[in-house]
This record gives sequence, C-alpha cells and structure tokens, in this order.
Amino acid sequence: MEFVERRAHALQALAAEGVFDEDDHPLIGVLDRQAVRDRVRELQDAFDGPGRRLHTVAAKAATLVPVLGWFAEAGMGCEVASPGELAMALEAGFDPSRIVFDSPAKTRTELRRALELGADLNIDNVQELQRIDHLRQDVDRAPTRHAPGIGFRINPQTGAGSIEAMSTASHTSKFGVGLADPGTRDMLLEVYAARPWLNQLHVHSGSQGLALEQIAAGVAAVYELAEEINARLGYRQVDRIDIGGGLPVNFTSEETTPTFRGYRAVLEEAVPGLFDGRYAITTEFGRSLLAKAGTIVARVEYVKHIGGRQVVITHAGAQVATRTAFAPESWPLRVSLHTPGGKPKDVGSAQRGDGSEGAGQEMAGQGVSGLRSDVAGPCCFSGDLLTQDVELPTAEPGDLVAVHDTGAYYFSTPFAYNALPRPEVRGYEVGPADGGVRWEGVRRAQSVEQILAESGGVGGDVDGWAASLD
Ligand SMILES: *Cc1c(COP(=O)(O)O)cnc(C)c1O
Repeated sequence: MEFVERRAHALQALAAEGVFDEDDHPLIGVLDRQAVRDRVRELQDAFDGPGRRLHTVAAKAATLVPVLGWFAEAGMGCEVASPGELAMALEAGFDPSRIVFDSPAKTRTELRRALELGADLNIDNVQELQRIDHLRQDVDRAPTRHAPGIGFRINPQTGAGSIEAMSTASHTSKFGVGLADPGTRDMLLEVYAARPWLNQLHVHSGSQGLALEQIAAGVAAVYELAEEINARLGYRQVDRIDIGGGLPVNFTSEETTPTFRGYRAVLEEAVPGLFDGRYAITTEFGRSLLAKAGTIVARVEYVKHIGGRQVVITHAGAQVATRTAFAPESWPLRVSLHTPGGKPKDVGSAQRGDGSEGAGQEMAGQGVSGLRSDVAGPCCFSGDLLTQDVELPTAEPGDLVAVHDTGAYYFSTPFAYNALPRPEVRGYEVGPADGGVRWEGVRRAQSVEQILAESGGVGGDVDGWAASLD
C-alpha cells in the first residue's frame, strides 16, 4: 500500500473516531511511520559505501521525543543545537557517540556537557575554540568506543539560495568561519596543526531553496580544505566530514524529489574523493526525512464568501504553519478538502466520484470548476493563511482540510500566538491487508490549564518565584 492510500485510511480513521467532533480537538498532526522508515532506508542505501557513516536526524525538524526515538531505532544518530534538543535526543535513546552538537551560541555549560558525553562537536568560531581549549583540560570524558568528531563549521561562502532567511552559505551568513574571508584558510591550517584532536570539518548549506549543485559546491570546498590540512600535516588528521543536511523538499506535488540517491550522484560528480572510504561521512538531514510523511488535519469551522473568494476558516494557521503564514512565497503548502467523514471532496463531476480510488490525491488548483479559495487559520491577523487563491470544491462547516507535507518543522514547532494550544500529534501504521490504522501517541494536545500555567497564571508556580524577587 502506497503512502497516499495509507494517508487516506488514516484520515478516515480519525474522522470515524470522532476526533473532529470535539471542540477542543479540531486539529491534529499525523506522521506515517512506514514513510519515515522508507526514507531512512533510502538514505542509508543511497550513501552506502566504504568507511563509517553517521546519519543523524536534525532534531529541530521534529522536536518530539517519540519521533526521534523512531530514528534511534532505525540506527540513526541525532543532530542537536540546544540543551532541550540534547535532552530529547538522550531520552529518545541515542547513544551520545551518535549525537552531533551544533549551534552558533553554545554556552560553556553546553560545551562542557558535550565534551563529557563524548558527542561530536562542530565549532562555530574561534572564540568557541578557545573555550573548548580550556574546558578540555578538566573535563572527565566518558569512555567512548571512538574519539568524538570535533572540528570547525565552515561557511563555504558559495552563495545564497532562493530563501534568504534559510541560506547558510551566503557571504555574511552567521554560521561558521567564512572560508573565502582573508586569513581564514591560514588560521584553520594553524589551528588544526596545533590540535591533533581536531579531526573533523563541517558544512551545512541549507535549507530549502538551494540547488543540489550549490550544496555540493559547499561540500567540495570543505573536502578540499580537509585534503589541504592533511597534506600540510603529513598525515590524515581530518578523517571525517560532516556534510550537514539541507536536501530540499518538493512541496508542490506528491512526488518525492530530489532523492537521496540523486543527491549522492551530484556529490560524486562534484567531490569524487568523498566516497572512496578515506573519510567517515556524517549527515544531518531533517526536512527531507520527515516532511512528506506528515499531514495536519483540521476541521473547517466556517465558510464565507468575501470579494468573490471562498474563505475557508479552519483551526490550522500560523500556530502550526508559521513560516507559510509569514513567508508564503517561500513556503507554499498544498491543501485538500474532505468530507466530515474524511473522504476527499471532488471539485467537479468530471473528477473521481467514489472517493475511494486515489483518495487524498485531490490537490488545490487541479480542479475544473472549483471555487477560488483562501484557506485561513484561527489567528487574529489577516496573513494567517495556509494557502491563497487556489481552486477548491464547495466547503461546508464540519469538512476537514488536510495540509500536506507538514511532517518536518510544522506541527512539531508550534508558535504560541493567540495562546492557541499545541496540537495533538500521532504516528500511524496501516495494516497492509485490511487497511486498519494503528495509532501511536506522540504528544498530547495542550490544555487550557497548561497554557495558563506557562503564561504566568494559575498552576505556573509564579507566586513563590515572584516572592523571591522581592
Ligand atoms: C537545520 C539544520 C539541519 C537540517 O536541515 P534540513 O534542511 O532540515 O535538512 C542540519 N544541520 C544543521 C547545522 C542545521 O542547522
């Protein structure tokens, strides 16, 4: 059974369960576990070859402990960039030797912890290196099977992509040391020569909006730097390269492009020496592992007609699709409209009528006689839209809207605007024979009591703390 069919089963199972009949649960995020497993396998197969591989999932793409646990189970590692993400990775079951610690603002406490754990560490700048020099002298390191990978994050300065805010390889990106800046190469050669424990180089040209060739050019620049350092030192001190993540996701159709295999081919072309076994390779993919596996489903509360548009008011808006609401050109999303029972609604009779075959495949803009529509969320600002001016069937209150490809960053990274609750998240598996859906609870929906407690209200234990300030 293919993903689209499994998703249709999941949607109808949610509806049958009555999830959307409850006013306090009009919105949910679901993740297809099989799709995640398939994607991990595809990555592992695509990057197979001689030498060690450490495939990590970028925690920020899904800061949900059970979901990170799926990746631990699949033999992956985890890339983290904050104390919270590190705690999640450890709780999810990743061995510290399979954790990679990034972040441009690591505190001394965070650095000490990473060193004690024996996690891999990508150093952002020279000031951070100086802190590590000091910390290394008095850290009791846990015995690990292999020395952790420690080295600099390099900004190859190979150019920005189409989304400025997501471009980490522009000339002035805040991440890493600028390889093309005067003096950087010599500084790095000196720094590595003086510290035999610097054994790694890192680059992450992300994320979304970059051509594969651009990402590969960054990897090539770092590979050449590794070769230069090793040649200068006369031995292979740098023996691992962390190529980051950043594989873009196609948000405009069901198709999964580009593939990991396609990316490997582009890398082989740009950096032929990378895969010959001399270097261990670490990866840090996030969006490309999860986006296509996830769907947000929200109830339609009202339908209005304003200025010739059908305006579909749902419970999914900027609180779950923050980037889409604020930068819709860069982060378009596909939506489909479903009956209260979860069956896809067709635009016109010219399309599939029975709602079973190809269920869930209806896409905004495909219809022949739909209504020009905006799909809006519950937040109190007018840009709170999931999609704008697309063709949709006639919507009614109680219908469901599915928001596709939202498995990475969307429902796992909520935005607390209007004190809207974090939605419930579930994983699902669909029985191949009977289409039965098995759920796995990932995160409960936030209650109004919890919102009060974390907003300085009752239950937040504010009184004792406030008294301590007197
Ligand atoms: C965000 C991030 C990633 C993951 O990026 P994707 O585009 O989701 O693959 C990997 N590495 C670092 C350092 C990041 O900041």
